[in-house]
Amino acid sequence: MARIPLVAGNWKMNFDHLEATYFVQKLAWLLRDAHFDRRRCQVALMPAFTALRSVQVLVEADNLPIEYGAQAVSVTAQGAFTGDVSADMLAQLGCSYVIVGHSERRKYHPEDDANIVDQVRAVLAADMKPILCVGESYEERRQGIQLDFAVGQVNDVTRDLAKEDMDNLIVAYEPVWAIGTGMVATPDTAQQAARAIRDHISGKFGESAGQAVRILYGGSVTSKNASQMITQPDVDGFLVGGASLDVEEFARIVRLA
Ligand code: PGA
Repeated sequence: MARIPLVAGNWKMNFDHLEATYFVQKLAWLLRDAHFDRRRCQVALMPAFTALRSVQVLVEADNLPIEYGAQAVSVTAQGAFTGDVSADMLAQLGCSYVIVGHSERRKYHPEDDANIVDQVRAVLAADMKPILCVGESYEERRQGIQLDFAVGQVNDVTRDLAKEDMDNLIVAYEPVWAIGTGMVATPDTAQQAARAIRDHISGKFGESAGQAVRILYGGSVTSKNASQMITQPDVDGFLVGGASLDVEEFARIVRLA
């Protein structure tokens, strides 16, 4: 089964709804020609919660070939959880994806493994796709345990999932030392990690599940390093942070994928 590459822009805490509107209109215009075909490559934007509705209105009004999603989600369905947003609320806004377990969330919010497992479950139950972020810090890399570390994170989160869930799970291998630093992993490093994660999923859920799951690379992706990276057989696209804030640069990365 051929996996469709995905390029997802993680805007983090940038762009209010007006800036998001401008970005989406310009991106749609930049990708308007026949070079862009959503069966060949999918493109997604991950705005702040406050911009999701504006993005939805634009995408639906013009049937744009752009998907979108959120950067985190509550693990509970509703109730007295001040400041939280539920999976159903996101699904009702037409979200296709939710980033789960980003290293910034693991660091600045109390998101431990159990919480990340529950987020993945909540996203799947609402018929959206979790983009599960894993990856080692500089310290684990120094110790040479980076592959075991990333695979261990995938193992922990997928422990109670079913084979069918693998069709909807997306894993983003994002070495923490590469995020926002300009220190991108080599294509070989990204391939090794993606391969190890895929082999692990194949071993656990069967070969077809391993082949179905999409594995992205994230960490200082730009149009300069994306072209080499995307030729790696197990790298199915990118989770782009800083470079996704420049619409022309982001469109270049989409075209490369
Ligand atoms: P970066 O961020 O591209 O700015 O390194 C990637 C991410 O945090 O998802």
